[in-house]
This record gives sequence, C-alpha cells and structure tokens, in this order.
Amino acid sequence: MSNPFPAIDWDRLTAAARAAREKAYAPYSNFKVGAALLTREGEVFVGCNVENRSFGLCVCAERTAVGNAVSAGFREYRALVVATQASPPAPPCGMCRETLQEFAPDLVLRLVNENGEVRERQLADLFPEPFAGP
Ligand SMILES: [Zn+2]
Repeated sequence: MSNPFPAIDWDRLTAAARAAREKAYAPYSNFKVGAALLTREGEVFVGCNVENRSFGLCVCAERTAVGNAVSAGFREYRALVVATQASPPAPPCGMCRETLQEFAPDLVLRLVNENGEVRERQLADLFPEPFAGP
C-alpha cells in the first residue's frame, strides 16, 4: 500500500525555486525571487517575481506560482520553497501570505538563499489570523 503522504522532496523543490528565481523579472528592485509550490498530488509549480515600471503592478513569485497551479487545476498545496538573495532568507510578504492561506492553511515553507541558509516556517505561524471573507 502506497504512502498517501510521501515525504516532501525538499531538494527537488529547492532546485525548482532556484531555477525559477533565475527567470525573475526584477529590473527595478534587483531583488529576484523564485518559488516552488508542491501540490497534494505531487506536482510542482514554480513562479518568479514579475515587476513593472508601474510599481503597483508588481507580482510576487509566490502568487505567480499559485496562479500557475490554479490555472492547471491544482488548488491544494503541501509545501513551498522561496528562494531569495536575502540573509536571513526572506519569508513571503503579507499579500502572499493571505493568498497562500486561501488554499493551504497548513502549508509548510522552506526559505532559502544562495548562501545555503535555510529557515523553515509554518504558514499558520506566519499568518495566524486570515481575513474572514465576505
Ligand atoms: Zn508577496
């Protein structure tokens, strides 16, 4: 009988997040971010930040990954790796925490940078009181 909850392949997710980070469009901040989202089904969707000269239009890597996953029909997530150049490795912004919470209140996050620093977080700890909704 197969394990319905196989161990999370953090190495695979981290590699995917780092590869996505290389594709970031961040000419204004030069703060490149990559994200890799693991679905319940074991699929991986990535995202990078996409900036715009009209700064309010900038989209984070995490929300790009969620958009890619939702667009492909996947709405349940187990884990997320966020790759940045920050030290310590940067967590998702508030807007992304709200977006992630919508789909995955039990999400486990691993935050990494290029120096090999790793931080692990639970979304529930980073974002304990989401908007209650309409
Ligand atoms: Zn964000």
